[in-house]
Amino acid sequence: MEAQHAVLGRKARTIELRTRSLQPERDQVLVRVLACGICRGDLIEFTRERAEPAAFGHEPVGQVEACGPWVRGLSEGDWVVGSMDGAFATHALGRQSQLLRVPPDLGETAALAEPLKCVTTVVRAAAPDFGDAVVVVGCGFMGLAAVAALRGGGSPLAIAVDPDGARRHLATELGPPTPSIRRARTW
Ligand SMILES: [Zn+2]
Repeated sequence: MEAQHAVLGRKARTIELRTRSLQPERDQVLVRVLACGICRGDLIEFTRERAEPAAFGHEPVGQVEACGPWVRGLSEGDWVVGSMDGAFATHALGRQSQLLRVPPDLGETAALAEPLKCVTTVVRAAAPDFGDAVVVVGCGFMGLAAVAALRGGGSPLAIAVDPDGARRHLATELGPPTPSIRRARTW
């Protein structure tokens, strides 16, 4: 099928719309993209010059439209997240092993799966014991998600540090506030 996708142009801050023909082969799944998150890494790439146009978008959620002959256990209409090539697109291809089926009622919110995967990787790497105090420096989306993951995972002493009072306040709403959060300030 003919699909449209966005690529980063050679010049910084340019995006080109292109058409490509996609046909799922072997273990590939053709996904109709419904939403795609914009990552900080995407923004950095957007502001760079490059020798060749590059694929754009890696935080998609979409619905399966067709499956290659080796695919088992996924069918048309299933909602999936995961790694797809150039996901700022009407459609994209992904390998079944790199896709995860998600409940349809999550809707576009499921595009948060990829950044949340990064957060859980960091929290697992830190591997706090129950009762440990953990400091999260920087409370943008990823930092706040880390605070939520730590508190949900049994580390109620997740201490949020950010110069922005509104962000610190959001951190207090993600679990039981700690005195350290209330005392957090710029330094
Ligand atoms: Zn990302």
